[in-house]
Order: sequence, then C-alpha cells, then structure tokens
Amino acid sequence: MTARTDGGADEREPLTTCEDCSKPIYEGDQYQPGGECDFCPEHAATLADILDFWEQDVSDDCECPAWSDQFDSIEDAQAFIVSLREQIARDGADFKPLYTA
Ligand SMILES: [Zn+2]
Repeated sequence: MTARTDGGADEREPLTTCEDCSKPIYEGDQYQPGGECDFCPEHAATLADILDFWEQDVSDDCECPAWSDQFDSIEDAQAFIVSLREQIARDGADFKPLYTA
C-alpha cells in the first residue's frame, strides 16, 4: 500500500477513532485523548468524571492504580486533582476538556 498525497478530504486517514462509537477523528478535529483510547466530543469525559477517576485512583483502596502511567509521582497526580477542582470551579463540572487532533 502506498500513501496517497493527492487524495480528497474523504480519503484522509483518521488519526484515531472514538472508543465508544468508532467515529473517525481527523487532524484538526476536536477530541479527547484518553491514554489507551480516544473519544469524540460526544463521548468525552466531563471534568467531574475525570476528577472522580483520579480521586479514586490515588486513594488507598484503589486496587489497580493507573496514575503511574500518566504522572511521574503521586504528588504530581494529586497536584493534577487540585488543578481539576480549580477548573471545575471555573468552567463547571460538565465541561469536557477537548484537544485539537
Ligand atoms: Zn463517540
């Protein structure tokens, strides 16, 4: 297979797809990267979902913590939780942080 550079917009390869609905996400689209899997804006997690996840993840009774995949230390993870709380205070718990692909 050779990569085509003269194709139209419909022939672009998606950078990734939504884990939930398999919607293709192209360069320049809004999406939410989630480590192993990515999400379209519709299925992206809200700030409240993300805060829930990390609060549980750094708590003592989390059996399978994932913070070490994303952060260098648990202090970094806790600092991220603090910044999430600040962002919720500013943008609301239903805000979905999205990035441009
Ligand atoms: Zn989706």
